[in-house]
Amino acid sequence: MRCPHCGASQSRVVDTTSDPNNEEIRRRRVCLGCDQRFSTVESVRAGLPLVVKDRASGIPARREPFDAEKLHQSILIACAKRPIPAPAVDRLVDGIESHFRAENIAEISSREIGQMVIDGLHALDEIAYIRYAIVFLELDDLAAVRDEIDRVLNRTN
Ligand SMILES: [Zn+2]
Repeated sequence: MRCPHCGASQSRVVDTTSDPNNEEIRRRRVCLGCDQRFSTVESVRAGLPLVVKDRASGIPARREPFDAEKLHQSILIACAKRPIPAPAVDRLVDGIESHFRAENIAEISSREIGQMVIDGLHALDEIAYIRYAIVFLELDDLAAVRDEIDRVLNRTN
């Protein structure tokens, strides 16, 4: 944590307190560069879940914080050169993020998120939907892709 007085990056914690609700920890620090004091506050990033990456059986699952920007990028790739307005993609990502906050979801699998995106894309653009489905449902042969396309066609017609 950079010192606000001199910019040095080394400091020592001299006091730690938490607020009555135990939602915030304040640390009083002394800068090792200029000896002046400053405070830092630590809190949980509210409402956003950890994403559990699906792994092959036998390999422990990996968890990482939900990253809206990363999700946004992955959707944009599926939407490349499709007539999808940018605000529609923003709304899809915002909708997923606010769903997590509203439901206070602590943990979600990457597959469940993929399914939410797929449902959203299906309403927006079927080509983008199929592209996303190929990657995130791990459709790894043409028959699986054809089945998915058949499912789309049956749903629309
Ligand atoms: Zn300093």
